[in-house]
Amino acid sequence: MPKINVKSLYIHIPFCKHICSYCDFCKMYYHEELANKYLTSLKSEIKSNYKNDLIDTIYIGGGTPSSLSLELLTKLFNILKMIKTSKSLEFSFEVNVSDITEELLVFLKTNQVNRISIGIETVNDKFLSLLERYHTKEEVYQKIMLTKQYFDNINVDFMYGFPGQTLDDLKDDLLFFETLEVTHISIYSLILEPNTKLFIHNVKPLEEDLEADMYFYIIEFLNKLGYIHYEVSNFAKKGYYSKHNLTYWNNESYYGFGLGATGYLNNYRITNTRSINHYNKGLFMLSKDYEDINIRMSNEMILGLRKIKGVNIKDFFNKYGKEIEEVFNIHDLVQQGLLKIKDGYMFIHKDYLYLSNQILERFIDIQE
Ligand code: SF4
Repeated sequence: MPKINVKSLYIHIPFCKHICSYCDFCKMYYHEELANKYLTSLKSEIKSNYKNDLIDTIYIGGGTPSSLSLELLTKLFNILKMIKTSKSLEFSFEVNVSDITEELLVFLKTNQVNRISIGIETVNDKFLSLLERYHTKEEVYQKIMLTKQYFDNINVDFMYGFPGQTLDDLKDDLLFFETLEVTHISIYSLILEPNTKLFIHNVKPLEEDLEADMYFYIIEFLNKLGYIHYEVSNFAKKGYYSKHNLTYWNNESYYGFGLGATGYLNNYRITNTRSINHYNKGLFMLSKDYEDINIRMSNEMILGLRKIKGVNIKDFFNKYGKEIEEVFNIHDLVQQGLLKIKDGYMFIHKDYLYLSNQILERFIDIQE
C-alpha cells in the first residue's frame, strides 16, 4: 500500500492546575516532576512513530498545555524540533485564561505557534461556579486583549445549555463574546458525561427544546457578526477556518501523540493508553484497529457532514468507487429534505443541524 503523507499532528498534554466539574477529558493534576517524566516519554513516542512527514498543522491540546512551567514548555518545544514543518504551518496551542502572561505569549510566538485557543466557556458567575472554572469578565477581556497584541488568530470556546440557563443569560454571554472580536469561536452545549462531578451530583440537563432554541439563536447572532458557520459547532471569520480540525472532518490521516491521544494512519485508528504509568513505561498504545472500506465510507460521511458545506459527492465516488446513495439507506432523509444535494455536495439542511447526531447515525450501517 502506498504511504499516505500525513500532514497533521496532535499532541496531548494531560495536566491541569484544577479539575473542572464537567470534564471527562484525559487529564490529571499538574505535578512538575511527573510532567517532566511525561515529556521524556512523549519524546520517545514521537521518535519511534513519527515518519518524517512534512507537517502542515500541529495542535497542542489537553488537559491544559499552558499549565506546564516555562522550563517544561522549553523541553516540549525542543522535542518538537524533530518535526518537519511546512511554510504554511498552522500551529495551535490551548491556553487557560489564568495562565496567559506576556512572557508565555512571547515564548509561544517565538516558537512558531500562530493560533491560540482559549477555553472561556461563559462569563456568567453562576455557571462558572457550576463548572468550577474561576475567571472574571474583566480578566477574560484583559487577557484576550493582551493575546491579541501577539496573535491575530484566536479561538475561544463558548458553552451553553447550563441547567437553569435562560435565553437572556445566553444573550449576555454572547454580547460579551462579541466584544472580544476574535477570529474563531467553537460552541458546545454542556454534556453531563458519566464519571464527572456534575453527573455524580445528579445535575439535570437543560430542557432539550430550549437548548435547540439556544443553538439557533447563537448561529443567527454569530452570522450577523460576520462569522461563517462552517461546521456544526464552529464559526470563523473569513480565512480563519481551523485547518487542523478540517483534517479530522475530511477524514484524513493524522498523528496523535501523548496520553489518551488518537491517531489515524494508513487506515488504522490508533488509540493511546490513558494510564500515565503505562505511558511512562513506554507502553504508549492501547489499541490499533484496521478500518475497512465500509468503516472508512461511514466515517467519511459522519465526519464530513459535520461541515456545513457537506461532502463532495464526486470526491466520495473517486475515493471509494461507489455512490453515496448506493452505499447508505438515506433515501427518506433526502426525500424529506433533512439531507440536501446542491452544487455537487450533500449536506444537512440548516434547519435540521440540531438533529445532526440522529441524522449521522444513519451512516453507521452500510446497505448490503
Ligand atoms: S475542562 Fe480543561 S481545564 Fe478543566 S479539567 Fe478538563 S481539561 Fe482541565
